Amino acid sequence: MAPVAQRVRGTQDILPADQPHWELMERAAHTAATRAGYQKIATPIFEATDLFVRSAGEASDVVAKEMYTFTDRGGRSLTLRPEGTASIVRAYFDGGLDQEPQPVRLFYLGPFFRYDRPQAGRYRQFHQFGVEVIGEGHALLDVEVIQVGWQWFSELGIGDLGLKLNSIGDEVCRPAYRELLRDYYRPHLDTLCEEDRIRFERNPLRLLDCKVPQCQPLKAKAPRIVDHLCGPCATAFASVKGALEAAGIPFELDPSLVRGLDYYTRTVFEYQHGSLGGAQNALGGGGRYDGLAAELGYRSTPGVGLAVGMDRTLLILRQGSPGQAEGVDVYAIALEDGDQGYAFQLASTLRAGGLRVVLDPGAARLDARLRKAARKGARVALIVGPDERARGEAVIRDMSAKTQVTVPEREIIAAVTQAVGAA
Ligand code: AMP
Repeated sequence: MAPVAQRVRGTQDILPADQPHWELMERAAHTAATRAGYQKIATPIFEATDLFVRSAGEASDVVAKEMYTFTDRGGRSLTLRPEGTASIVRAYFDGGLDQEPQPVRLFYLGPFFRYDRPQAGRYRQFHQFGVEVIGEGHALLDVEVIQVGWQWFSELGIGDLGLKLNSIGDEVCRPAYRELLRDYYRPHLDTLCEEDRIRFERNPLRLLDCKVPQCQPLKAKAPRIVDHLCGPCATAFASVKGALEAAGIPFELDPSLVRGLDYYTRTVFEYQHGSLGGAQNALGGGGRYDGLAAELGYRSTPGVGLAVGMDRTLLILRQGSPGQAEGVDVYAIALEDGDQGYAFQLASTLRAGGLRVVLDPGAARLDARLRKAARKGARVALIVGPDERARGEAVIRDMSAKTQVTVPEREIIAAVTQAVGAA
């Protein structure tokens, strides 16, 4: 008989073997973020659809093709969150964080959902660690955010990391640059790919995103926005570059790194890793979004953030040494059925004493069960049979030395703790 259901396409199970890596990523996120004064926040997995339509933009791939949208029983249109920033900005105002001393520094970890074409490093449910700084527009905060991400990778021992950087200006300088780009592309429209012809009309900045080979020569010579920034944007960009240099974070200017939405301002960046080939080499990215709060209907409030992908980072961590699995101190074995209750009681006593205890529920031969204990990595086996039960004792076996002692129940925590420490 076939199983009634399979794992849904584009999802993955993070199995126990990967959990050491996963927990390492979570701990590194906590460390990197809290060291710089960021506080953890968790927002719902689903939100009103409009929140994402507004924040990602009607014409974006995310909204046009990738959202998991459904109508609930009350007739509301809801969407599984495709990214974190819009929800965080909403929560910042909903939760009154805008009334606290500014800026507010937040971080989050969790699953996100996009109906994308699944492949290695691209899933329909994926996971991100992200940070946001809201309520203050200083360029040094851009660098702080980049540095928290950098620190995260460094906590994970991931080298071979590249940082790409660009500025996309603001509402003062970008409109003129957009026209400049149109003027540049206009005479060559017939040589462009189909998508670029649409971008030319709707969103010329996205022309710089194009990966189609036939469009590359033209793109390479396109005017660069960093050469057309207004005074304040140019000053901010110079501060960002200067502070990155001072922080010892190497970066590469990439004039084709853009965001297609008007509320993105100034700094945009992306982390890339050499070992992830092709289009999936981006480990994370972010930028400044000074126009987002107003776009969502709130008071105009600056913000900057980053999101890194945990699933792709897991692929890199797997290339290294396997992580340290969660250990077991004691493997508890009852020799006969009638001894199970006694073994269960001793296991509870040991757990209450802070030890990690796995109870063997089986009835196999002792040597087979000791092999299981070894496979579990237990340092001590606790063995009870009818004699031990009758006398209120237990046998404690040191799994590596293969020696054993019999101790009375009241000494069991002390004896096991000592044996575990010695093993
Ligand atoms: P974005 O929110 O699109 O800027 O993505 C930030 C990071 O999240 C990317 O660099 C990836 O590491 C990760 N990411 C985004 N989409 C996916 C996906 N469908 N599957 C796996 N990781 C993803």
